[in-house]
Amino acid sequence: MDTHPVISVIAPVYNEEPIIDELYRRLIEVLDNTGEAWELIMINDGSYDGSAAKMRALVERDPRVRVINFARNFGHQNAVTAGLDHARGDAVIVIDADLQDPPEVILELLAKWREGYHVVYAVRSERKGETWFKKFTAKLFYRLIYRITDVDIPVDTGDFRLMDRQMVNALNAMREHNRFIRGLTSWVGFRQTGVYYVRQERFAGETKYPLKKMVRFALDAITGFSYFPLQVAIYASLVLALVAVLAIPLVAVLRLTSSNIQFQGQATTLIVVLLVSSFQLFFFFIMGQYIARIYDEVRRRPLYVVADLWERQPDETPETGVAAPDEHGQSR
Ligand code: UDP
Ligand code: MG
Repeated sequence: MDTHPVISVIAPVYNEEPIIDELYRRLIEVLDNTGEAWELIMINDGSYDGSAAKMRALVERDPRVRVINFARNFGHQNAVTAGLDHARGDAVIVIDADLQDPPEVILELLAKWREGYHVVYAVRSERKGETWFKKFTAKLFYRLIYRITDVDIPVDTGDFRLMDRQMVNALNAMREHNRFIRGLTSWVGFRQTGVYYVRQERFAGETKYPLKKMVRFALDAITGFSYFPLQVAIYASLVLALVAVLAIPLVAVLRLTSSNIQFQGQATTLIVVLLVSSFQLFFFFIMGQYIARIYDEVRRRPLYVVADLWERQPDETPETGVAAPDEHGQSR
């Protein structure tokens, strides 16, 4: 029996207990209508609520569901990476578990894929149920990334997308840390296109991307795809040099022409020193960001560690179907 699925759906899960059954229900409604064999891979990214039990129950009910349990929380991008590593389909679809990405859009992604595109990404024409702060920072982020990176990363586009086997194989060969997967996809190339959709409200629960994680993510995106921040120092240094060149004759002339202008020495010096050292520290920070990421590469740690895989072989009964613990994700 050929059990090779045509479609793999990847959903990273971090404490999404109230959503899992609904996600499964919405997904089968769509996937069963495609007429293709499919699999759903859920990555349990170190959830500590009841998510694991919910997913376990799904694996026992439906052999098309597979679960990758991480040893701890390795983050959204690494969870998606694990899904890509394990996916067997010809068309691989990445979707958020929280139903902000409506599963019905998958049909449109598949239609474009059948037209011959390697990547079909879903562009957010509107975002519902998100704070103005999130919308504003997201808008700013996508435009900044678009401006300063060397690859063309489509704006207002998250990880919700379809990728074909060729693209997935290319991505799987890139084991870099601090991943910005949509950037990597753009870097690879091939024929890509987008479809528009309205991003929905979260089905339940809270965002798992607090400000701290958002900032980190933005820094990963920028450092991963641009040298611009490293080069900003040269502009700052030119501006400061120009100020010095203009100030030197100015001070000299002031001193020589009017004897009663007491140049406000100490205060001026203090301000200049503070300003210049703040510039310098800022560039230390930027360099630190790149150096930390180089350090991550040098250590060559795996991107994630799998605690166990829950999946059933086609003719196995649920009781015996739980696979043995896997080794490290990197070894694939
Ligand atoms: N997620 C994850 N690991 C994390 C954070 C998030 O696997 O450390 C998952 C989360 O469960 C969801 C998806 O990544 O399925 C997107 O996260 P979320 O919806 O919280 O982000 P937002 O939509 O608010 O940007
Ligand atoms: Mg979300």
